[in-house]
Amino acid sequence: MILSKSGYKNFKLSNVDNIFPAQDMLLQTSQIKQYTSGIYAYDTVPLYLQKNIEEVIRKHLNKNNCMETQMPLMQPKEIWEQSGRWDKYVQSDVMFQIHTESNTYCLAPTAEEAILAFAKDKLKTYKSLPVNLYQFGQKFRDEIRNRGYLFRGKNFYMMDSYTFDQDEQGMKASYQNMRKVYFDILNELGLEAIAVAADSGAIGDSLSEEFMVLADFGEDTILYDEQTKSGFNVEILEKENYEEYLAKEYGIVDISKLKRVKAVEVGHIFQLGDKYSRTMNCTFIGNDGRPHYYQMGCYGIGVSRLVGLIYELSTVKNENGDFKGVTLPKHLSPFKYYIVAPDKNQELLDKATKLYNTLQEKGIDAILDDTDNSFGAKIRNAGIYGVNDIVIFNNRLEDGKIQLEYFNSDQKQEVGYDHFINNL
Ligand code: ATP
Ligand code: MG
Repeated sequence: MILSKSGYKNFKLSNVDNIFPAQDMLLQTSQIKQYTSGIYAYDTVPLYLQKNIEEVIRKHLNKNNCMETQMPLMQPKEIWEQSGRWDKYVQSDVMFQIHTESNTYCLAPTAEEAILAFAKDKLKTYKSLPVNLYQFGQKFRDEIRNRGYLFRGKNFYMMDSYTFDQDEQGMKASYQNMRKVYFDILNELGLEAIAVAADSGAIGDSLSEEFMVLADFGEDTILYDEQTKSGFNVEILEKENYEEYLAKEYGIVDISKLKRVKAVEVGHIFQLGDKYSRTMNCTFIGNDGRPHYYQMGCYGIGVSRLVGLIYELSTVKNENGDFKGVTLPKHLSPFKYYIVAPDKNQELLDKATKLYNTLQEKGIDAILDDTDNSFGAKIRNAGIYGVNDIVIFNNRLEDGKIQLEYFNSDQKQEVGYDHFINNL
């Protein structure tokens, strides 16, 4: 990205939100735009961060033989009537409906119905099972509370995956496998998560666990054991006989010693059993020659919520504890280097441009700041675009040398240009 060609406009941050400073910065710098509560547009950096997160998730799913699909975003009312969830979703005001003269559709809040309708044409006998079908796509929910910018949108980007098994034992094995895949994904994203027992909500009446990242700005509250890393969402305390339920389903017996903490829910996995396949009457022919209902699991990761979370966790503060900027983790950051070029010195600008091109040839994306901003403003802007490694061209430097600086530390070093290129 060459800054002078990016539509860049000079900006000044004022009073960033003290709970979600990084996302407020995105808003103030027009990297996200809020049209109305919960509806956002994304500019290049947050968009490409989302794509990089998506790529990590996809890699782990494909490694585990999950198959990528794409369900329609606009879905006919009929499949929702078959599952008996149309009225439920409409009554709870979650669903966006589209009415034409002759038909009614919804914008997908989730995809159990759509995937089942898809799978039943394909998975006709036990020989096709087990299988895991997944997709990345927008979900639409008319959320009432839209706190936390990208954390809770009316439309948001999710990975949702669905497992199909012959029997309960297989379903549970698929669930345990996906549980492990989720830990691997979150680990690669640099997030330490714990899986806690959850109240399943609208998808529910089934065993489910939420993947939680501890953070004081999180909207969920969980009770958990620091040693065993097991626990539950406090929403469960609203259930009748919750003690019995926790003991029987999740093996949690003594809740008096659990620690109460705030957390962000990044994923939610469910053992659905035959709940949907039965109501939608979707069967496969078993080894015994008879029809059976699929045993299903479903698994969601909030990809756009992860974008917001990774931004917030990447916040860099100055000496006074005020928001300074953001340094995204290098393996996820869309741009790896921020090249500061003096716009008035053609010779140095040429050298900086040459570095930019060389990096591009090597497949390393960088930002070339060739604007007429001051040197200080350019350094500040690295933190607006989430880049930690800053490469400076400067006429005070010896010929053939560049200066490396880091947005999140005071470290500086001068290195030879060739040395830098050879060590990339
Ligand atoms: P929540 O409890 O946060 O409302 P949920 O349990 O209803 O979420 P699921 O249907 O299980 O959510 O969705 C899977 C994942 O999608 C969640 O774990 C969360 O990370 C993300 N997610 C859910 N709703 C939203 C939303 N409105 N905006 C952004 N991400 C969301
Ligand atoms: Mg939830």
